[in-house]
Amino acid sequence: MSTDTPNVSSFVPPIRTLMGPGPSDVHPRILSALARPTIGHLDPQFVSMMDEMKSMLQYAFQTKNELTIPVSAPGSAGMETCFVNMVEPGDTVIVCQNGVFGARMKENVERCGATPVMVEDEWGKPVDPNKLAEALKANPQASTVAFVHAETSTGAQSDVAALTKLAHEHDCLVIVDAVTSLGGTPIKVDEWGVDAIYSGSQKCLSCTPGLSPVSFSEAAVERVKSRKTAVQSWFLDLNLVMGYWGEGAKRTYHHTAPVNALYGLHEALVLLQEEGLENAWARHQKNHLILRAGIEAMGLSFIVPEEARLPQLNAVTIPDGVDEAAVRGRLLNEFNLEIGAGLGALAGKVWRIGLMGHASNVKNVMFCLGALDTVLTDMGAPIKSGVAVAAAQAAIGQS
Ligand SMILES: *Cc1c(COP(=O)(O)O)cnc(C)c1O
Repeated sequence: MSTDTPNVSSFVPPIRTLMGPGPSDVHPRILSALARPTIGHLDPQFVSMMDEMKSMLQYAFQTKNELTIPVSAPGSAGMETCFVNMVEPGDTVIVCQNGVFGARMKENVERCGATPVMVEDEWGKPVDPNKLAEALKANPQASTVAFVHAETSTGAQSDVAALTKLAHEHDCLVIVDAVTSLGGTPIKVDEWGVDAIYSGSQKCLSCTPGLSPVSFSEAAVERVKSRKTAVQSWFLDLNLVMGYWGEGAKRTYHHTAPVNALYGLHEALVLLQEEGLENAWARHQKNHLILRAGIEAMGLSFIVPEEARLPQLNAVTIPDGVDEAAVRGRLLNEFNLEIGAGLGALAGKVWRIGLMGHASNVKNVMFCLGALDTVLTDMGAPIKSGVAVAAAQAAIGQS
């Protein structure tokens, strides 16, 4: 450290292919939207852009929920927005955990002064509705059930409709983490009756990190408005945020919206609308099947049972005796390709190959399989060499 004038030039990042757990590759149209001129966040033109964004988020979430907005901070802040608004001190919250993000939900509950009741499932498996049913029976005082739709740490997908139905039968509202699912795999907020849901901009929406779309049902808004205690976070208190994003032109100042970041999200949602939600879901599934053919031909396997596998997050086994960090390092340095490491209980046990948003395409699948095959073969790993790309090619027509 010194007080002399620093001699630093512009930061020019390398051009990578992002196939990890997020951020995913950002579409060039989104990058150029970010560079448009900044205007005031209360400018009438900005306000109408926000209205468009809201209707496009409603489309992405498949909801008519009035309170559907991007929180001005990353997915973790969307998580916190749901918990601090929905949970009051003394409440009991049932948290279903089958990976890293369920553990963060537990911490949120505790920091709200409430009591978490944990329903645990093995990492790599979906949340078991039978276990939730038992917990609901054993804890009639519970007011909320929280779970992760798409566990990014394992690649497992849980049944939001079934879990929500159970929670409602016991008069609980639900909080759903859809950070990795939005835009990549079906989410139907209204049809499934979800109460509070949050996502992130940098996974299957292919936008830059830093924004968290959330949606609250009427029942959830009613709960937020009738709280006995003030929300402990000033910034995330939706009673205040609604004054800025709410109906009508009464846009009062709450915080300075991240203007250019919102241009980016707007463009991401335009892209999603142009492609069509169903087509985006189908594309993620198709590319997952092509990747799977190559991965399995190589002799690696998936840790999640087939029926619960997320197409956008592929947790695959590491061949025996291989230094998994060295492989990721070589992919990054020699191929400019990022794949993810295992997290938590799966650290050192899996790689996480993301096929999220704009990054979910055949070119990336072939590139990733070819690069992985090359590096593993060079390292003498016990895999079937030279067959992954051909197997993936053969799968293209079939999926
Ligand atoms: C990435 C992720 C988050 C956190 O989002 P950030 O934008 O990193 O704060 C939360 N939940 C899940 C399931 C995620 O994948």
